Amino acid sequence: MKDIEKFYKRAVKERSANSTEELLNFISDSHGSKVQIASSLGAEDVVLIDIMKRRNLEIDVFTIDTGRLNQETYDLIDEISSRYEIKINILLPEPLDVKEMVEKKGMNLFYESTENRKLCCDIRKVKPLNRHLSELDAWISGIRSEQNQNRLRSKRIELEHRDKLIIKYNPLLDWTYKQIFDYIKENNVPYNKLHDLGYPSIGCLPCTRSVKQGDKNRSGRWYWEEESNTECGLHEN
Ligand code: SF4
Repeated sequence: MKDIEKFYKRAVKERSANSTEELLNFISDSHGSKVQIASSLGAEDVVLIDIMKRRNLEIDVFTIDTGRLNQETYDLIDEISSRYEIKINILLPEPLDVKEMVEKKGMNLFYESTENRKLCCDIRKVKPLNRHLSELDAWISGIRSEQNQNRLRSKRIELEHRDKLIIKYNPLLDWTYKQIFDYIKENNVPYNKLHDLGYPSIGCLPCTRSVKQGDKNRSGRWYWEEESNTECGLHEN
């Protein structure tokens, strides 16, 4: 795409009020193979995939295998791939970066300091994401405003400065957790079994725990850190 800033400004003006479905149609028509859905296989991401397939849109999907995911998440990758007949593109961290990090700081470095935890998230998640996004013009995420303060400030269409300028679409930004699960149940969408065990948000196995009913959506993530630390860096551009 030649002038991404110009395209972004026009899309914000003309498409910000689109429904989720309309926005996905516009994204697919506008970007073709240069846009992909980022999926951690959370409840929001399976909803996005289901809407995309129901509308016969061909938008590729990728996920980041940090090497520390839950078995339930790996099971769901296979289930979603087979149910929707899609190939989920699996991004991996650079093996030498991981080797150097764990040999120097230990396998469970993230429990020792926020600095270590951010290093691990950077190597296992953010770097693979940025490498992948450098091939695209746009990406689609399932983040929602009510998940945390950072996401409350997000917009449905954003321009990000990563390794290059890229458009980010958040078509589910104004959905509630209840709306997400109502959609999943009504449409019989496969979802991560951990959601039924008290995990509203699911990340890596060692860094996520279940929460009590009424607790904040992402309070089970990095639960040993300050309450305000609820991002890994993927959505902080
Ligand atoms: S969530 Fe935990 S294990 Fe996963 S990349 Fe971040 S620090 Fe590492």
